[in-house]
Amino acid sequence: MAFAVDLHIHSCLSPCGDEEMTPGNIAGMAYLKGLDAIALTDHNGWQNLPAMEKTCAAYGVVLLPGLEVTTREEVHMLCYFPSVEEACVFGRLVQEHLPAVENIPTLFGEQQIRNEDDEVTGVYGKLLLQATDIGTDDLPALCMEMGGVCVPAHINRKANSLIANLGFLSLNEPYAAVEVYKKLPNPTDTGEYLILHSSDAHQLGDISEREFFLRFEEKSTKSLFDYLKAHIGCG
Ligand SMILES: [Zn+2]
Ligand SMILES: [Zn+2]
Repeated sequence: MAFAVDLHIHSCLSPCGDEEMTPGNIAGMAYLKGLDAIALTDHNGWQNLPAMEKTCAAYGVVLLPGLEVTTREEVHMLCYFPSVEEACVFGRLVQEHLPAVENIPTLFGEQQIRNEDDEVTGVYGKLLLQATDIGTDDLPALCMEMGGVCVPAHINRKANSLIANLGFLSLNEPYAAVEVYKKLPNPTDTGEYLILHSSDAHQLGDISEREFFLRFEEKSTKSLFDYLKAHIGCG
C-alpha cells in the first residue's frame, strides 16, 4: 500500500526547532495533515522520542524513530531505527561523541525535553548543533551495527550535505536511501538509491501534506523500517 510519510522533522529539542514543536503538537499536526507515518529526527538528539512514541500512538500516526547526526565533516545524516529503545541507545552513543560545549539558549535556542503531555521536563546541556567526531564514512556501519539504517540528508543543499561538503555522492555506500530537499533542483546523479522527500520541518506549518508516498506492506513502524532496510546499498 502507498502511505503518506514525512521522515525528517525536528522537535523543540533541536535548538533551531520552534518551541511549538512539542510531541503532542507534531503528532496532532501529522494527524490533521493526514500523514500515515512521520520520523522525529532531532540534531544529535533522542530525548523527545519516548514522548513522541506515545503522542503518535494516541493519534494513530506511525513513528519512525530517528536522529539527524552531524558527522565530523559537518555532513547531516539521518539514522532511523525500528524501535525507540534502539534509537535511544544509539543517541546516547552519538552524544558521547559531541564536544563538551554547553548550549547558550539566548544565542541558539532552548533544547527542551518534553513529556507526552507536552510539559517541559528538562533541557539538554551540550549544544546539539555541533559536529560529532564520527566520520561520514564510519557512520553507516556504526548505525547498522546498532540496528539502524542511514540516509544522507538533503544532499542537494548548499551546506551540511554530502555533495556540498565532500564534493560527490558515493554510489557504493550502504545507504538505505538519499534525501533530496524538495524545494531545490534534484541532483543530477543519485544512482539507483531510493529517494526520499521530506520536510525538514522546524515549525508546525512546515510539516508535509500528503505529498510523498512510500509503498510498504502495512501501517507499522516495523514495516516501514523493513522497507528502508531492504533498500540498503541499492546504489
Ligand atoms: Zn540537516
Ligand atoms: Zn534537519
